[in-house]
Amino acid sequence: MSFLTGLRCLRCGTEYPIQRMHRGCVKCVDEESSNVECTYDYDQIKRVFRKELLAERPPTIWRYKEFLPPDEANIVSLGEGMTPLVKCSSLGKKLGLKNLYVKDESRNPTWSFKDRLASSSCSMAVQFGADAVTSRSAGNHGAATAAYGARAGLGSVIFTLEAWPRTMKTLMQAYGAKVVHLPTWKDCWRLQDACVAQFGWYCFDDVAHRYAGYDPYGVDGYKTIAFEICEQLGWRAPDRMVVPVCCGGSFFGSWKGFNEFLELGLIGSTPQMIAAEAWGPLRNALAKGLDHVEEVPVADWSTVAFSVALDTSTYQALKVLQDSGGIAEIASDDEIMDMQLELASSEGIYAEASGVLSLAVIKKLREMGKIDEEETVVALVTSGGLKDPAATQDYLPDVPLVEPSLEALRKGLAEAYGYVLPPN
Ligand SMILES: [Zn+2]
Repeated sequence: MSFLTGLRCLRCGTEYPIQRMHRGCVKCVDEESSNVECTYDYDQIKRVFRKELLAERPPTIWRYKEFLPPDEANIVSLGEGMTPLVKCSSLGKKLGLKNLYVKDESRNPTWSFKDRLASSSCSMAVQFGADAVTSRSAGNHGAATAAYGARAGLGSVIFTLEAWPRTMKTLMQAYGAKVVHLPTWKDCWRLQDACVAQFGWYCFDDVAHRYAGYDPYGVDGYKTIAFEICEQLGWRAPDRMVVPVCCGGSFFGSWKGFNEFLELGLIGSTPQMIAAEAWGPLRNALAKGLDHVEEVPVADWSTVAFSVALDTSTYQALKVLQDSGGIAEIASDDEIMDMQLELASSEGIYAEASGVLSLAVIKKLREMGKIDEEETVVALVTSGGLKDPAATQDYLPDVPLVEPSLEALRKGLAEAYGYVLPPN
């Protein structure tokens, strides 16, 4: 039995019974799209949940089952969550941070943070009796949808654009997803909307005519990012939490998780939330003091951070920044790729370009003097580098062919890598 009580609009507070809601709040949608969030019986959770219980529970997001929407019998799991919180001393030293941590989400079943959402969404798809699941995605979201759809025996149809990397689509198709290309994201929306209405597919996104966010039951899967970080830090929150942000599902979910643990007295404070963006619609909204997110002009739509490439964002993401006194900052392709190689070569973590956007922004904020040396800073690194190795290859030297002699090796290493062997 779940402690879920219903859904509530983040913007106007209207409450809804437990139901499928893929358009956000129906009262707000014509004025300004806003997602709804899951509500729970927190008195009951407080009565039942003890952190001491966790020692006996599996290392997955479902160790926090009291805070998640589905009934236990409907849980669809591939062992997602409890990813390592890695203290990065070498990288931290280079950035001038004594307590820098990476929450390495590449360790999830489909190698990205999206598994948390997909596990929670897919469990609710089973609970609602859906026949199939669907999402629109540049890659990670679709791969997670496909894997969990397969796990649940539901199957999936994924909508995407031709421009995104082939690797991502191979992954989705391997899980049995029917992947289709459409000309634009708006086309994906419209067709998804029609399929949800006509065939009853369970959608892991929104289908509002303006961005509302993701399936609200899935977004709560992201609360476990915050829960795990608190548990891994010894029952405290970091000072700063930096997240690559597009529609802000994991940004909002993490923030909600920290607040739930604060409310239950499990931690003493919440972090400042920092949005790392490709093009800066949230940065723009904060700078102008807007109460909504407007589109920003994009000169060049090609970016290595394609997983978070959007010229707008959501009400829920802006609300996190407002409520946490947060910051939004952007990083360029070169800054992102430098950080991807820096993280891999100094800490042994090879992450997707979009996934290290958090660290690229931390570097910039340190240089701007906006983060202090002693603070505990957690970077959410969302996905593994093998999702798009082609992007990395452009930033690496060609592998030299060397004759089998020490002299040829000396020459090859020096020319390709600037690496000088000791004299003979
Ligand atoms: Zn509303």
